[in-house]
Amino acid sequence: MNSLKIVVLGDGGVGKSSITLRFVKGQFISYYDPTIEQSYNSEIELDHKKHTLVIIDTSGQEQFRTLQDSHLAQGDGFLVIYSLVDSPSFETVDEIFNRIEKFQDKKCQEIPIVLIGNKSDLPDRQVENDSGKSKAEEWKVSFFETSAKTGNFVHEAILACVSQILKKRDVDSI
Ligand code: GDP
Ligand code: MG
Repeated sequence: MNSLKIVVLGDGGVGKSSITLRFVKGQFISYYDPTIEQSYNSEIELDHKKHTLVIIDTSGQEQFRTLQDSHLAQGDGFLVIYSLVDSPSFETVDEIFNRIEKFQDKKCQEIPIVLIGNKSDLPDRQVENDSGKSKAEEWKVSFFETSAKTGNFVHEAILACVSQILKKRDVDSI
């Protein structure tokens, strides 16, 4: 059985680890070392088939840059996360999409990618829902607003990525 590799990308502090841990462990951990790059395996069942999901929670650290580049090349799918309460993190999203295209050597629209605006539980929003939606339309990727704290839409977002990967594999194998 082939595993599905999902790489989690985004600025420091946007909630990459929190979303990963919410999905893998079902809990919100309010402190997680920002320097740790960690991979998690989990079993998921979709359409009555079991799949092994490998989620790579990256840290944006410069010393991991080479490692991250190899994840960019080898990932089957990507979560590109920004924080709804931090507009600079939204502005780096274009750069991330460009890097994915470079290492995957194709356009984002051909790659299983989910754009995620995280921290929807917080009141002081800096990035409007429409801005996220437009960005996703521009790059032709999926879009969700999530909260790793409450768990809102975390599973939906990751499962959307998984089903895109599976769909693409089906098409590629024809
Ligand atoms: P990373 O650097 O992208 O891995 O970010 P972390 O997952 O370490 O999260 C950075 C900080 O934001 C931590 O203090 C988290 O507890 C907090 N955080 C992450 N996701 C959420 C969320 O959905 N809501 C709220 N309120 N805080 C969050
Ligand atoms: Mg982290």
